[in-house]
Amino acid sequence: MIISVVSGKGGAGKTTIATCLAHIFEADYYDLDVDAPNGEYFLQPEDWHVRQVFQKQPVIDASVCSGCGLCTRECRFHALYKIIDTVYLTDTLCHSCNLCCEVCPEGAISYQPVAIGEVRTGFSTQTGARAVIGDLKIGSTRGTALIQDIVRHLEQNGGHQVIDGPPGNSCAAVAAIKPADLVVLVVEPTPFGLHDMLQTLEIVEGMQKPIVVVANKSQENAPLKKILAKRGYALAATLPLDSDYHRILLDGEILSKSSPVVYTLLQQALAAEVQS
Ligand code: SF4
Ligand code: SF4
Repeated sequence: MIISVVSGKGGAGKTTIATCLAHIFEADYYDLDVDAPNGEYFLQPEDWHVRQVFQKQPVIDASVCSGCGLCTRECRFHALYKIIDTVYLTDTLCHSCNLCCEVCPEGAISYQPVAIGEVRTGFSTQTGARAVIGDLKIGSTRGTALIQDIVRHLEQNGGHQVIDGPPGNSCAAVAAIKPADLVVLVVEPTPFGLHDMLQTLEIVEGMQKPIVVVANKSQENAPLKKILAKRGYALAATLPLDSDYHRILLDGEILSKSSPVVYTLLQQALAAEVQS
């Protein structure tokens, strides 16, 4: 079973919950928060295998290009622009969609591979399962492409797999939700957190995925429960704002390993949905 842990708001506690679930269900862990992966600090993997990930990037042969401008008009991402008769690429806007190459009447566009990041795979000393870390190259804007590549290589080994998704509600978050059999939505029940949660909820509902909602760093849950009740959900578990939890996390420990209370809380909250 693939469990994607997401949250609209960054800092809500996705990695805290995702590493707990990897521990509790002895699951492989996939860090798809590729802009800032930090799950490995808790999982402490060993025996790394590193795979570089590349994407295609257009190269325009100026000696063949007629300057017709068709590629600049067709590119949906405005990654190509023309000054006088010369076409230039803004590589950070390119999505490697191949369209410019397809439409060019002169065959002036080819592709070269560019590195967008790496995937590190190790064996976690803390969970006894695999840890797969997506790490976007500094300066690259192709986080979604890196996530999609990792999802394509997601190994179905019969066990459980926990995806630690990126924050927000962008294409990258959608890519991390797409393979899920179950989505765990982590909510920090602040006005900001509730606002972003609603956006994530709409996305996950639109993708018709089963949802379990967990509140984290909670002091007051009444508004959250009211919102969820209106949409037909119950709050599955609540982790309070607790300085002891913060100390455990600052020490780089998986919360459910150090807190039997958290272990039981999350195990019971997901037991019915997670098939053994
Ligand atoms: S590959 Fe696609 S996104 Fe990139 S420049 Fe060409 S048309 Fe634009
Ligand atoms: S479509 Fe081809 S020929 Fe026309 S401007 Fe672009 S690269 Fe040049």
